[in-house]
Amino acid sequence: MSDVLIIDVGHERLEEDVRAAVARIFERFKVDVAGKRVLVKPNILAGLPPEMGVTTNPAVVAAIVDQCLARGAEVMVGDNPGGVDRNSQTTAEQCGIYQAAHGHFKNLSERVVEVQTTSRFVPNFPMGKTVLDADYLINVPCFKTHTLTMITGAVKNCFGWIAGGYKARLHLAAPSRNRFQELLMDIYQVRVPDLNIMDGILAMEGNGPTHGQVRPLGKLLASTDAVALDATMARMIGIDPAELRLFQIAAQRGIGHWAPEEVVVEGPFAVIPDFKLPTEFAVSPTEQVALLQDIGTTVPTVKDEVCIQCGDCELNCPAQAISMDPFPVVDPQKCIACFCCAELCMEGAMEVPQGRLPEKFDKMFR
Ligand code: SF4
Ligand code: SF4
Repeated sequence: MSDVLIIDVGHERLEEDVRAAVARIFERFKVDVAGKRVLVKPNILAGLPPEMGVTTNPAVVAAIVDQCLARGAEVMVGDNPGGVDRNSQTTAEQCGIYQAAHGHFKNLSERVVEVQTTSRFVPNFPMGKTVLDADYLINVPCFKTHTLTMITGAVKNCFGWIAGGYKARLHLAAPSRNRFQELLMDIYQVRVPDLNIMDGILAMEGNGPTHGQVRPLGKLLASTDAVALDATMARMIGIDPAELRLFQIAAQRGIGHWAPEEVVVEGPFAVIPDFKLPTEFAVSPTEQVALLQDIGTTVPTVKDEVCIQCGDCELNCPAQAISMDPFPVVDPQKCIACFCCAELCMEGAMEVPQGRLPEKFDKMFR
């Protein structure tokens, strides 16, 4: 059995409410960090302001840092942002997390070591030694949708264990929706967080994790079991966790709990009405398999009128499927439909297709 705690936080007294909620979470899960090296790992996907709901709200990070310090911990705050060329500190400053770390920010791409893995996709993972050296790890994901994995919650947030630009290479090593979720579980297992606090103050629906729509939710969710936390989030957005590959893999490997009868939820759980799922998941995975016969265009498309020709998408495409001419052109033969380009384009100029998966991607469901 696993426990999930949900706490309402208001928008008017956000900082006070968040501080009270984080204090309650620490008490509820008996967090003992005295004398320990604690790594707080928020979602610092991109240098965007908190009101966009893309990154962890700085108020949550600040409250966690202060709780840890008050309990006698040595604290570090860090993440590996998306993109091969993004400076970790600059990105954290742009989304307010650097300031919220109160002088305890840490670049997780320093001192990278190769960690051997039993993953079938790669022999080892390049990870910052800070992650491996932490005595206690607090994972602080956002409550968001994701065009590739449906949800980007606590397990997916651990993708940030991987140093700098290596993340893009891993997309190429596991080039399908299902394989990538298996890879995420491989990474999660390298260092399972001790506590997970999910920021659901401003959730994201639609085509997350960067360009979905903000959905004010006003909640923090917490658990020592990231799988249980993600399953609770899935149920809140109207998804049966049993349908998602992530939880199927967790069940096969005996990691965490996700079945409703194995997760005790304390607090205001409710299914969010009319929550918008990513386009590619507009139907259930079972129905998607049937729709695979429906050949369509699945590669992302560029909105020339929005694109500023910065070339970030070309730089970050793991399959090198993009060339600039002068706007980005996607080679459908090379594209692996990972949607990193849409995720990392700060202008929102890369559009996730409305069509269904073409036949060449049938491997996604194997
Ligand atoms: S699509 Fe986005 S990332 Fe690519 S060149 Fe245009 S603005 Fe830059
Ligand atoms: S074009 Fe975009 S979706 Fe296709 S492989 Fe490159 S980053 Fe991924």
